[in-house]
Amino acid sequence: MRVAIVGAGIGGLCAAVGLQRAGAEVVVYERAPQLKPVGSGLSVFPNGIAALDSLGLGRRFRRITAGDAARLDAGQRRPDGGWLARLPEDAVSGLRVVHRAELHEMLVTALQPGSLQLGTTVSGVREDGRTVDIEGRDSRPRSERFDVVVAADGINSVIRRSWPGDPGLRYSGYSSWRGVTHRPVDLLGAAGETWGRGLRFGLAPLRDGRVYWFAVATMPADEKVDDEYARVRELFGTWHAPIPALLDATDPKDVFRHPISDLAQPLPTFRRGSCVLLGDSAHAMTPDLGQGANQAMEDAATLTALLAPVARNEAPAAAALDLALATYDRLRRERTQPVARRARALGALAHVPSRAGVLLRNAVMRVTPPSALGKQAKTVQTWSPPSGVSARTVTTSTR
Ligand SMILES: Cc1cc2nc3c(=O)[nH]c(=O)nc-3n(C[C@H](O)[C@H](O)[C@H](O)COP(=O)(O)OP(=O)(O)OC[C@H]3O[C@@H](n4cnc5c(N)ncnc54)[C@H](O)[C@@H]3O)c2cc1C
Repeated sequence: MRVAIVGAGIGGLCAAVGLQRAGAEVVVYERAPQLKPVGSGLSVFPNGIAALDSLGLGRRFRRITAGDAARLDAGQRRPDGGWLARLPEDAVSGLRVVHRAELHEMLVTALQPGSLQLGTTVSGVREDGRTVDIEGRDSRPRSERFDVVVAADGINSVIRRSWPGDPGLRYSGYSSWRGVTHRPVDLLGAAGETWGRGLRFGLAPLRDGRVYWFAVATMPADEKVDDEYARVRELFGTWHAPIPALLDATDPKDVFRHPISDLAQPLPTFRRGSCVLLGDSAHAMTPDLGQGANQAMEDAATLTALLAPVARNEAPAAAALDLALATYDRLRRERTQPVARRARALGALAHVPSRAGVLLRNAVMRVTPPSALGKQAKTVQTWSPPSGVSARTVTTSTR
């Protein structure tokens, strides 16, 4: 089975490694001429780790991550440092935080040599879902045919934009700066988020003691800011310790702002013919639950489990492929779309605009039992790949 993967982000690379290990011949097209290290962190929860385990990547992943978040008090605080809500220990015990550049490098080195084509843009996928139109750096436009095409080309996916029913993106109303300290900083025993009015700050430890942080503010998506780092200092520089120390320990040139958007509506399907959407292209969500990449990992593990029974065949049976892709579409819409809805709702709560709204929100958070918060987190973070049942269904139904 020949598979094209469009995009060498976390989702595309996980799918490429999984499908290669299942026996498929995989080509990954990435438009960037080189893979630049991305300077921020990523929270990976038990569901993402279960996906990496099923892709055979769990052990490598654990080596490059910190489980230290589990030893810290976690939850939401006020800008003066008082707790609004604490998460029970078991809600964060499985969390691991990774530097994105290290995760990316780990995934690229797990690929079979020669399967990644950098500087190669896919301009579209034909209606059969099998033929990709490609623009190489040094070559004339060409097209190539595959058994399956995986569109993992991110939130601005050109492939999704040609999809029937593409709802487009909607801006959340807030933007996020991200940074990693260049030296270890003492977190004083706590991690998580701090919520103000229209402002939020989050922090998490990396394995070497450096700290990944993000700062979020309600603002227009296209607001001009002359000095991004100075703006973060102005908004958060007087918040509780260790926030000012984290900003002191961050190189201003490494601080970037991203407008936060998600899909305006859930997509009616993640599949067209033999092409499937995966990761942000399928279900771009706001990062409020830290689940975008975790869900992309789940997508990759699900697709791999479903296609594994047919992956080794040079000419896979059409019925087997059809069933596997239809099952992927159904399972992943059912799983990801409610997560995206919850992420958006949490973001709206965090950025409630009025002073009265903030007072009410804080009062409710203070009286919510930690066990209820833990239960909510668990429903998102508990997941296992569909290896047994669905893969067997695919094989048996094609005999
Ligand atoms: C502030 C912030 C914090 C976040 N924190 C977390 C977190 O803690 N945990 C978590 O799970 N998620 C988090 N996320 C979400 C996470 O970053 C994304 O969900 C994830 O990176 C999506 O991966 P992807 O592979 O789908 O897309 P991407 O990483 O966007 O990769 C897409 C790739 O496709 C390439 N490409 C695009 N178009 C083409 C084309 N036409 N041809 C060839 N190549 C193409 C791009 O160059 C890129 O390399 C966060 C997001 C933000 C904005």
